[in-house]
Amino acid sequence: MLAMRSDFQLLDGKLVARKLRDAFASRIDRLRELGIVPGLAVILVGDDPASRVYVRNKERAFQKLGLVSDVYHLDSNASQERILELIEELNENQKYHGILVQLPLPSHLNEFEIIERISPDKDADGIHPCNIGLMATGQDCPLPCTPHGILKILEHYELEVEGRHVVIVGRSNIVGKPLALLLMQKRSPGNATVTICHSKTKNLKEITSSADILVVAIGKPEYIDESYVKNGAVVIDVGTNRIEDSSVQNGYRLVGDVKFSSVKEKVRAITPVPGGVGPMTITMLIYNTIYLAEKTAALPK
Ligand code: NDP
Repeated sequence: MLAMRSDFQLLDGKLVARKLRDAFASRIDRLRELGIVPGLAVILVGDDPASRVYVRNKERAFQKLGLVSDVYHLDSNASQERILELIEELNENQKYHGILVQLPLPSHLNEFEIIERISPDKDADGIHPCNIGLMATGQDCPLPCTPHGILKILEHYELEVEGRHVVIVGRSNIVGKPLALLLMQKRSPGNATVTICHSKTKNLKEITSSADILVVAIGKPEYIDESYVKNGAVVIDVGTNRIEDSSVQNGYRLVGDVKFSSVKEKVRAITPVPGGVGPMTITMLIYNTIYLAEKTAALPK
């Protein structure tokens, strides 16, 4: 048993993901009646083991719903030009409503230029600069998957955001920054007071200890222990870190950026790793692909 306290809630991302995916069925059927099967093209460059696992999980999730998901796997030394050309082709290919470039890319590639080349109308990850601008100004657009998934977890468990102090540790373009924009927006879920921290933040512990909701996305295994967390806070652990573990068959296990075992004793609610934010990220990728397919068919959401 994870916890017996009646005031404690495990934020089960798998459960929320399942509920959302069930609700996709009618939208997928409606598109099928029009001869449209939502399709995603994934570009994977190189052989990073974690990226391969993420891509395989995405493929499986799409297949389970009968959606198209094709992986374009390029060599780790693929040139910038080759990738840009491929994106141009996929932008034109009507089979695909969404395109995703699996990050991180090998260091010789210009990530910004690659993301920018994806048509904003096929931006399955919601991270094209045009869509980030639309999101920042509260317009309708595909939202970045991980932040969107976090909003859905907060909504599902009816965790109040308005007026709360949310501290986000990590300022990446795919997690920290867009999540801050979404949580401070002037509508629900939003209206939070948001503080962003990063590796140059001074007095990190003092700031995180004042959070009603603490989101951690730094990529450092179990870095945040109970001394960083206020009693009764809500903790969202985005971190997904592989650590060696010879007792399991594949030789590693996944842990978050938060030391789950001790932090859970102090907080009101926490996401586990695995099974918290991860399943939500894939679910919101499916959500975005369906949303983009509906847009091409000019269907209302
Ligand atoms: P990035 O490496 O792009 O960003 C990490 C951020 O954390 C940076 O802003 C960095 O600061 C900050 N940081 C690093 N160390 C510290 C520290 N000691 N104190 C305070 N801030 C620190 O990571 P991502 O946002 O891409 O990913 C973060 C984690 O989340 C990773 O473990 C990743 O695997 C996971 N992830 C999980 C997803 C899921 O679906 N569950 C989806 C996306 C990511 P600075 O900017 O100063 O360098």
